[in-house]
Amino acid sequence: MIIKKTEKIIARRDERSPKPQQIKRKPMANLGPNEGLRITPLGGCGEIGMNMTVFQIDNHNYIVDCGALFPDATLPGVDLILPEVSWLTQQNFQLEAWLITHGHEDHIGALPHIYPKFPAPIYGSEFTLELIRGKLEEAGIKNVQYKLWIPDKTVAFRGLKLTPYRVNHSIVDALGFFIETKYGNILHTGDFRIDYNPPEQSMTHENIKTVIGQKPVHIMMSDSTNSFSKGSDKSENDLVHSFEDLMRKDVTTFASNVWRYKSIVEAAQKCGKKVFFFGRSMLKNYEIATKLGILKLTRDVVLSEDELKGFPKSKLVVVCTGSQGEVFSGASRLAFGTFHNVKLDANDAVVFSARAIPGNEKSIGALINQFTRLGCEVLTSKEVDCHVSGHGYQEDLLTVLRTAKPRHFMPVHGEYRHLKKHIELATKTGVSLENCHLVENGSLLHITDEFTEIATQIQSGRDYVCQGGVFNESGDVYKTRLNVAKHGLICVNFVMKERGYDLACSPSILNRGVPLDEQKFAAGLAKIYGQSLHALSTALVDKPTKQKGSVNLEALKEEIRLQLRRALEKKINYKCSVAVTISRVGS
Ligand SMILES: [Zn+2]
Ligand SMILES: [Zn+2]
Repeated sequence: MIIKKTEKIIARRDERSPKPQQIKRKPMANLGPNEGLRITPLGGCGEIGMNMTVFQIDNHNYIVDCGALFPDATLPGVDLILPEVSWLTQQNFQLEAWLITHGHEDHIGALPHIYPKFPAPIYGSEFTLELIRGKLEEAGIKNVQYKLWIPDKTVAFRGLKLTPYRVNHSIVDALGFFIETKYGNILHTGDFRIDYNPPEQSMTHENIKTVIGQKPVHIMMSDSTNSFSKGSDKSENDLVHSFEDLMRKDVTTFASNVWRYKSIVEAAQKCGKKVFFFGRSMLKNYEIATKLGILKLTRDVVLSEDELKGFPKSKLVVVCTGSQGEVFSGASRLAFGTFHNVKLDANDAVVFSARAIPGNEKSIGALINQFTRLGCEVLTSKEVDCHVSGHGYQEDLLTVLRTAKPRHFMPVHGEYRHLKKHIELATKTGVSLENCHLVENGSLLHITDEFTEIATQIQSGRDYVCQGGVFNESGDVYKTRLNVAKHGLICVNFVMKERGYDLACSPSILNRGVPLDEQKFAAGLAKIYGQSLHALSTALVDKPTKQKGSVNLEALKEEIRLQLRRALEKKINYKCSVAVTISRVGS
């Protein structure tokens, strides 16, 4: 096999590296028969969040996961971030199936927005499908075909066979995929860790060993989130003991994930306490997990909201949403006292049993301050053993690499530095460096019988879900909104006489957030108008247009806008948004 690596892959914006300069060719979205296997990440490679990868085997198309990303404070007005899929929508991409690994938001959160563009059966485990069903129904999306993965049971698709296997992760029913194709076998780990005392009853690497059997792994794609963390983390089940210790206070509040419910309820039971699940998604997850028999929690330990009234505080444990400082979460309502059935005070403890997702530190900090104001003891994973990561540390990554023994390696689920570090680990297990492929969003890995290569220049990026619609990050709507939000807006209106170009009255100014002496500035507007008109009229003499002798009002508006912007910049020392309108008396 000839290995040809065409160029180093470079990511696109912000914290990612600059856009590639060298354009070799633009790959089409669809492959023809016998054109090979292509793996194209549209999200999740070069960032943590919004995982979405297109798998193509000849002319058969599949997408693994469809995740979203939550915005940080640098993106005002954005509710959710989605992978951009214009590369696919512009080229009549026909999808055969959605292949979903698990139910975390960074793997299913974009489905309500993207699924309608590519309606196809959705495959997922029981818990994952329940979460997806809830999301799509809420969005009014009907007639969806849900197909259930049974772990270790092979499903035949056109061009590939896929066997899902269980992995240890911070949500129930998480899966990895073993995909067999005529171009070689792919092992996709999904999000995973190795838990040696697992709530799932089985261990990731053991399951991988079983699923691949004697079959060679041509390429392995593996979760890189914790590729910098040395060693391996504790077991999820080990947390029960530290939770028991935390229940010495009156009300103990946990902001937490699904598997941890089990440990919390077990600890509560041992301490003679009862649990209240607070927050919409928390309650939904608890109900689904109980309905499916994944969590076997005895009903008498769990309180309903009605049962809370008059229940002694000293016997209560609240498990709530809001570990990332979300504004409308259960934790936030408890902190700000807007939930009347439970009022916290100095006798209570609040435990953040989840790690801060980068970018959320400020909102979490605000929440912690508020709990502290109430006098609560606030504990995080820094002070007590209340969290284990759902993503494998270095030892776990190495174990899985040694188990799968892949020929090629493609790290996924991580920022550039995480992917790079993961490649370093892979080479320690015997994968040759030239067979390690750092493929970021916007690039693809193409495998045929003759070569394995990376190609660049797929149109990719981010779409923002905002009030009023979904807008691309580089489109005018969001850029204008952001500019106005950051720098303010000046609107100037000019009214001309019924005929000719003379002004009928003084121009008016509308100012939104620009530090400007408006009266003083207004005095110079007529002059700017005159200069702009003169500039355009002179141009007309030199270069006659169809409207010979008359000034195009759109061109005049633009000329005035540019001159105003320059004049304003001299006064305020920065560029703000400027809008100009011109109307005529009587029209
Ligand atoms: Zn996950
Ligand atoms: Zn994930």
